[in-house]
Amino acid sequence: MNRCLVLNANYEYLAVLDRWIDALALVLTDKADPLAHYDKVVRSERQTFALPAVAVMRSLVRTRRRRAIFDVPAKPIVFARDAFTCQYCGCRVTMRTGTRDHVIPRSRGGRDILSNVVTACSPCNLRKDDRMPTEVGMHPRSQPRGLNEEEKLGCLLRTVRSEERTAWLTCLRRHGITLWTARAA
Ligand SMILES: [Zn+2]
Repeated sequence: MNRCLVLNANYEYLAVLDRWIDALALVLTDKADPLAHYDKVVRSERQTFALPAVAVMRSLVRTRRRRAIFDVPAKPIVFARDAFTCQYCGCRVTMRTGTRDHVIPRSRGGRDILSNVVTACSPCNLRKDDRMPTEVGMHPRSQPRGLNEEEKLGCLLRTVRSEERTAWLTCLRRHGITLWTARAA
């Protein structure tokens, strides 16, 4: 299994293809150009193909999915940003024990966005309940915010194998690619 990191034509992050054959198909049909390959090759009867590690699309793909991946306040993303630390009491949480807390409660019009969601342990979440920070005197230790480039990359790379991570990072550094343009979340 050698996944391929696919960049949009503007070199922003687009997708990760799980199947190498999908990545190879993009390249062979001239939809994408490979920027880096794995050492592994696959052979047909007549030809040998290097497996693409990173590929860039030839034309711009319009998508909203790219934003959705790291801009939704899902548990793994919120917890990674807050270093798995309850933002009210400072205790450590795990994916199993931790909860997400809306700083301004949803019942008070608080939005389900990264800049309004923090990591909280269950006791703190229960104590805060559906109340405003000022009403209970509970304020997050750090102001919730969208992920920066490095944190997004960290989330992306956490799920891939070291061989893939090395190939992708080497390629991104060599070409000076940042994957995301600075933009408010
Ligand atoms: Zn707590």
